Amino acid sequence: MIRYALNCERSHVFESWFQNSAAYDKQAKRGLVTCPVCGSAKVEKAIMAPRLARNDAAEPATVPPPAAPPPVPAPAKQPLAIMSPHEGELRKKLKELREHITRNADYVGSRFPEQARKIHYGEIEHRSIYGEASPDEAKELHEEGIEFHPLPILPDELN
Ligand SMILES: [Zn+2]
Repeated sequence: MIRYALNCERSHVFESWFQNSAAYDKQAKRGLVTCPVCGSAKVEKAIMAPRLARNDAAEPATVPPPAAPPPVPAPAKQPLAIMSPHEGELRKKLKELREHITRNADYVGSRFPEQARKIHYGEIEHRSIYGEASPDEAKELHEEGIEFHPLPILPDELN
């Protein structure tokens, strides 16, 4: 058995059960499917709603759209590059710069934002420091006009 929601020519909506879709087609063609409200035989399928058992709801059943599958987070991508000899040279300099900073600057760890502010506002003597800041902290420092730079990270240190 299959249940169809049907519309008549006067837009009455009703439901009717049929043996199968071919049975509906045959009966509708012969004018045997009539609107229970006005008796019109000019009906057409509204929404097909196959059900195992009739329910008493007067309005035709609507089939909800299939739920979208939850987005699958893509694995984090790693920036990669193939370098020419010239860029390899720059990479060496980057490494030197990093080594120079870490050798000569004071490591302040997570106190970086606080220390950077003190230097910026002249509360302590200007010196080179390095440490860590969260993206929010870095944004705040930037908004206060404090100049700082990301410590160069070499690609082979990402792993
Ligand atoms: Zn009708």
